[in-house]
Amino acid sequence: MYSLKKLRARCTIWHSIETVGIAAGEILLSFDDGPNPIANTTARLLDVLQQEDVRGAFCVCGKSIPEEPELVHRIMSHGHLLVNHTYFHQPFAVFSERDLKKEIEACDAEIAGALNIPLFKTQFFRPACGWRTPGLDRLLPRLQKQLFPITDFGFDTNMSRHNYPKWVDRTLEAAKRDGGGLFVLHDRRLRFWGERFYDPTDKDSSAYRGWVPDAAALLIRRCRDEGFRFVDPHVFAGRMKKLERVS
Ligand SMILES: [Zn+2]
Repeated sequence: MYSLKKLRARCTIWHSIETVGIAAGEILLSFDDGPNPIANTTARLLDVLQQEDVRGAFCVCGKSIPEEPELVHRIMSHGHLLVNHTYFHQPFAVFSERDLKKEIEACDAEIAGALNIPLFKTQFFRPACGWRTPGLDRLLPRLQKQLFPITDFGFDTNMSRHNYPKWVDRTLEAAKRDGGGLFVLHDRRLRFWGERFYDPTDKDSSAYRGWVPDAAALLIRRCRDEGFRFVDPHVFAGRMKKLERVS
């Protein structure tokens, strides 16, 4: 019998902690869809992570970069891991190897331009909306990339500055349940499919992400209070290289 967990891992990036490079008691934070210059969100997040001495993974979108490319440079110089998260964030691209390849290569090129390192390529790719397909599995080894997973999804995309502590509670519960984890928080939230009212400057909406640095700080402190430690993303990346690919 195919278990639900296995099916989820086949169709999405949501994988069991035992199958990825996270050891017992370890946590890795990832930040998606940015960088985000609105309300200085990514810049303030980088400050918080520096103060807390935590390095994470930034899954950046190519189209988010041109507004403030310097942020990509800061992400790398602060010791975080840059992950390719497509150029346009089109979820349906995973159903076409050609479209997906374009998305991935355009994002790498945008990152390389921001860093002024022409041949820069990321080790990891995280598909838009976390969908995984057989075409994606075929393409990634050809591009010498690996899938960048999560071990739980806390639906921070639906949170706002009014209720983000719920995301912190939910994520901490997942960490306790699994003995650690790789979690995601969106420092930018791109428009949902079919979303009619999308205003990332509306402070009361979930599209506004100015609260994300506070949410990250709260989660880090509460995780440490529970005895968890934050793994360096480059250590994680080295372990993943040995795993070759998650199953
Ligand atoms: Zn995303």
